[in-house]
Amino acid sequence: MRSQLAKHIFTACMIVFLMSFGLIFYVWNSYLARRNLSELRDKALYLSAIAEHNGWEFFQDFQEKNISGQGENARITIIAPDGSVLYDSVVPAQELPDHSDRIEFQQALRNGQGSCERYSESLLKKTINYAVKPEHSEIILRVSAEKDTVWILLFRMLSPMLAIVFFMIILSVLLAFFSTKAIMKPINQLDPENPDDRNIYDEMKPFVRRLIFQNQQIHRQMDQLQEEHKKQDAIRREFTANVSHELKTPLTSISGFAEIIRDGYVQQKDISHFADNIYKEAQRMIVLVNDILKLSKLESGSFEIQNKREEVDLCAVCAGIRERLTLNAEKQGVSISCYSEDAEIRIMGIANLIDEIIYNICDNAIKYNRIGGFVKIRIRREREHSEVLVEIADNGIGIPEQDQERIFERFYRVNKSHSKEVGGTGLGLSIVKHGMAMHHARIVLESKEQEGTCVRLYFPG
Ligand code: ADP
Repeated sequence: MRSQLAKHIFTACMIVFLMSFGLIFYVWNSYLARRNLSELRDKALYLSAIAEHNGWEFFQDFQEKNISGQGENARITIIAPDGSVLYDSVVPAQELPDHSDRIEFQQALRNGQGSCERYSESLLKKTINYAVKPEHSEIILRVSAEKDTVWILLFRMLSPMLAIVFFMIILSVLLAFFSTKAIMKPINQLDPENPDDRNIYDEMKPFVRRLIFQNQQIHRQMDQLQEEHKKQDAIRREFTANVSHELKTPLTSISGFAEIIRDGYVQQKDISHFADNIYKEAQRMIVLVNDILKLSKLESGSFEIQNKREEVDLCAVCAGIRERLTLNAEKQGVSISCYSEDAEIRIMGIANLIDEIIYNICDNAIKYNRIGGFVKIRIRREREHSEVLVEIADNGIGIPEQDQERIFERFYRVNKSHSKEVGGTGLGLSIVKHGMAMHHARIVLESKEQEGTCVRLYFPG
């Protein structure tokens, strides 16, 4: 920007300087021309007075008298009224042609005075001629002088002019340098970290205000990020604490059972019962560790890398889940059904993750149900929204309103002991939430305590 600005200022200075220079030269040149003409006229009038007084013959020994007073530059011609030259101070009169066609001559004959400029291309020179007819005389007196053209004048003044142009260039460079420095000063002094619009140009104020606004925005975002970071940190710490706690409980049980068996406090007939407890606690730990691993895979994004997206038929997935869960449902006295108008409804997604999502919800619908209850799975296209809906409804124990928001949090259970009793880890719905987000799908929960729960999963179709 700085060099651009300097370039512009330099160019502007040079244009102004050269134009002023040309203008001054023009004015000066026309002033000189006017002065030359008036000098020539004065001379012609003065000489015509001499001619009138002394007769034109007086000029014949003109050279000796040197009355022109103008040195070699002035030429005097005496012309008869018919145009023939009677006398010329430069060329012998008889060698000169008839002068009746000369404009200054014709004008003088008519008006008493006349002037004309002629250009000689061979000499690159102009001549100015001034003719006067003395009042009481029958001759015309003409005075001529050479006048330099602009080019000759320029050529003669070449060295001073070059010096002036050189001086102008130096002056323009200096002006450009110092003006740029002065213009740039407030801009250079602007601190982008801490902009202030008080000492800046009016034209730049909107820009600086935008800068101030953006800085504030960045600070706000940084604060938000820090806040977010802190929150994430707290969640992670809580998760670690929860995981430790969840693992500690079955481990303590296993350790306790093993200890009393080792110390011989258990009778032979009870050993299989204790071993079964140890087995169940170990199984719980395996399920828990599996869920934790799944969740961390989903969070780190490695799940998406390891599993390709493909066409998944939701009808087939739900039918498979129903089949896998039928035995379990029967044990709990719950019926499970699956219904769809279409034979198949395909979406793009990660097959085993979609299976896991729907399985977890159906599993919950059985776990938190009652004897004689039902679980109904329905799949259909939501044509208006171009979505596919998987609806899992049960008429089980329902979820209290205040807990409905929180059940998707890790390890959150409405009734901890009941969840444990039915083999829950508190991580199932967290996995559902992450899996749905990965499919850009939304989840809607509707539940009423003691009446039942309906979970709707909307997948982009
Ligand atoms: P869990 O392993 O304990 O089932 P989830 O994350 O799957 O954990 O569910 C969290 C909690 O939400 C459960 O402990 C349960 O209290 C409640 N819940 C989930 N689904 C249902 C349902 N269909 N009916 C009643 N309560 C439910």
